[in-house]
Amino acid sequence: MVVAVEANLRKLGGFSGDDVPEQDLLRSCVHCGMCLSSCPTYRITGQEMSSPRGRLWLMNAVADGRMDLLDPVFEEQMYQCLNCRACEAVCPSGVHYGPLVEASRAQIEQHRSRPIPQRVLRSVTLGWLFADVSRMRGMVTGMKLYQKSGLSALARKTGILKALKLEESEAMMPPIGGAFLVPGKESWRPRKANKRAELFNGCIMGTVFADTNRAAARVMAHNGNEVTVPVRQQCCGALAVHSGMMEEARTLAKQNIDAFEAGGDAPIIVTAAGCGAALKEYGFLFKHDPEYAERAERFSARVKDVTEYLVSQPFTNPTKAVNRTVTYQEPCHLAHAQRITAQPRTLLKSIPGLELKEMKESSLCCGSAGIYNLIRRDMANELGDRKAGHVIDTGADEVITANPGCHMQLLSSLGRNGSKTQVKHIVEILDEAYGGKKTADSGNWAVDTQ
Ligand code: SF4
Ligand code: SF4
Repeated sequence: MVVAVEANLRKLGGFSGDDVPEQDLLRSCVHCGMCLSSCPTYRITGQEMSSPRGRLWLMNAVADGRMDLLDPVFEEQMYQCLNCRACEAVCPSGVHYGPLVEASRAQIEQHRSRPIPQRVLRSVTLGWLFADVSRMRGMVTGMKLYQKSGLSALARKTGILKALKLEESEAMMPPIGGAFLVPGKESWRPRKANKRAELFNGCIMGTVFADTNRAAARVMAHNGNEVTVPVRQQCCGALAVHSGMMEEARTLAKQNIDAFEAGGDAPIIVTAAGCGAALKEYGFLFKHDPEYAERAERFSARVKDVTEYLVSQPFTNPTKAVNRTVTYQEPCHLAHAQRITAQPRTLLKSIPGLELKEMKESSLCCGSAGIYNLIRRDMANELGDRKAGHVIDTGADEVITANPGCHMQLLSSLGRNGSKTQVKHIVEILDEAYGGKKTADSGNWAVDTQ
């Protein structure tokens, strides 16, 4: 079948318009099947169609005009995929799978109309709520009130949550305690700072997990970094990219590129694996944009996961013993999309008294995958239960991770499986081993609050 490809990639067989999957990426699969056993959906279903090779075959079929873009099988497979990128990490041909499935979803969204309730839900959440981090702060304030007022306990007790099928979503939410981290309002300045870093705050991390971001800043300050949180930054746009809403993602990405530009070449430190993976791919997102292509590349080159950065620099070993046993759950977007696997373990092993017990399948997706666990509950729960079982088998006191989505999915999966194992971000346990919040008063470094 002859495929028409224009120079600007606006037509490839059944794909057309913006964000057409790139032909060279699409054709690089050699069908060897080495990715099959790494794919969570293939492991659960055992079906070729639900494997990376099967999905690439479907994309090629649309690109060759052998399958309709709006064929329900194509849509089902593009959205059954968790976009966990485990296939990418093991592929000998270097298939860059993430951008292909994201472009395929963008194509589906451009060419078909969803039912009205779905359209409304997507535009209210991904198009409006995530478009401005101040709206996210407003929503999380509401959730905080709900938790603190006792309404949450009442809703659970009366069975309302169960009746509304919201019990599992609610179980994902950790207690929201501290104040939000608002960009520009706090900075960390060690007396002997020898480098400068800028923190990417994120939408969920800067609100629900604001204290985790503060812990990261303290850990960075212990290692000689002056840390600031640039104003006007927004959500990274990962959820929009994963949902095929590329224009919404680009709008957010442009604001982030603008916000961090004044920082020169200072590293941009990220505490959420999903955000880090998305930020590192801004270059790809703007590949065909003459105004932003170069700026996006420069931005992406500065992005570092906090664990990646700490291990790449002279590192001050923590001295306070943490006498507990932990296991490590690898976020897919850290292990597979960013290929960061050794650094978190190196950091955990630097903590005196801490025992790291590896779990089985630590890098198999926990089922979180952005909003996957909200929209595809059966598959997400199956993966969550499998993960919880592996965590429980280690007998660890805590499970350490590095992504808010995994954190929330672990909370709900462990709870569903009757486990009280605590979930923590790696910077929280490192911060504890450096002495925690109290060290801000130690005279070695100061926190500025405006
Ligand atoms: S490992 Fe790579 S080349 Fe082999 S089937 Fe999977 S995607 Fe294709
Ligand atoms: S991204 Fe994950 S779920 Fe999707 S095909 Fe690759 S391994 Fe399978």
